[in-house]
Amino acid sequence: QPEDPRAVKIPRYVRVNTLLWTAEEAIQSFISRGFTPSESLRASLYSPFRKEFAQDQHVPNLFLFSSQTQFQEDPAYKAGKLILQDKASCFPALVLAPPSSDDGAVIDATAAPGNKTSHLSALMKGKGRLFAFERDQKRFSTLQGMLRKAGCKNVETINADFLSVSPDDKKYAAVTHILLDPSCSGSGIVNRLDYLLEREDENEAVDTERLNKLSGFQLSMIRHAMKFPGVVKIAYSTCSIHAAENERVVCQALNSEEAQASNYKLAPKEMVLPDWPRRGIPEEMDDAEQAPSVIRCRPGDDATNGFFVACFIKSEQREIRDI
Ligand code: SAM
Repeated sequence: QPEDPRAVKIPRYVRVNTLLWTAEEAIQSFISRGFTPSESLRASLYSPFRKEFAQDQHVPNLFLFSSQTQFQEDPAYKAGKLILQDKASCFPALVLAPPSSDDGAVIDATAAPGNKTSHLSALMKGKGRLFAFERDQKRFSTLQGMLRKAGCKNVETINADFLSVSPDDKKYAAVTHILLDPSCSGSGIVNRLDYLLEREDENEAVDTERLNKLSGFQLSMIRHAMKFPGVVKIAYSTCSIHAAENERVVCQALNSEEAQASNYKLAPKEMVLPDWPRRGIPEEMDDAEQAPSVIRCRPGDDATNGFFVACFIKSEQREIRDI
């Protein structure tokens, strides 16, 4: 199968798992393996076998290598100290900015294979509680394996459908933040490794009927998340380029009974990676002025896979900076 030409524009991204390692230790290890630090993201990183690396300018503890650099046999990768994760897929946990206190409680509603769960756990500094739901049994085992390897001690994994969880269950009463990265068409994924990680069924064609089904499901997941009484912040993401799964779903969610009842609004741009230049498509939003509140990544052109992130907050929280 020939590679998508956009894939060569995407470096190999490696996230340092700060639960087990530091960026400084990782840099020393890269140098000892013969990689040369590069001050900035240079075109040379795109030449596939160059032995250089650079620090990412948007995501802390994320490093870039040339696209063909292999980490599968790297001891630090095998030990869970390095996580292979596309840059764009690091955005949702950063945008959610989960609490890192002993009483913090967070839900990852759609967790397997666990890249974003492990990122959340690291941002929480391993403190508080992180409930990670996964409906599919096989993917659930992958999730458990990944979290064990990554030393994510504050995570409770739950093999269940998030939609079947009662928002009034006392077990989740302390939850304030939800990460929602549901199944999507995967139409933004252009490089093979991420394709395998993020997409569930690569044989299914993306037709209108399937998109409608997916967006209906995505909307029901957001509406369900909005019913949890203690929750103040929900980060929604897809690796799709279709507005039907992105801006359109977000607008429908904002118009839903649940959003009205709990006063959910979109978080302002300042809370959603303000330095990232590519924002939502104004023509696809009910109110074009809301487009800057959401993030898009264009496959290849942004040196990432295609991606979308939106963040809902209860409106009385809009002025509170540290949620
Ligand atoms: N967040 C993951 C990561 O970064 O590694 C990728 C998540 S993937 C896009 C979506 C996952 O949600 C799939 O593993 C799928 O089985 C799971 N899923 C879909 N519907 C679900 C539901 N209703 N409840 C729980 N998990 C669900």
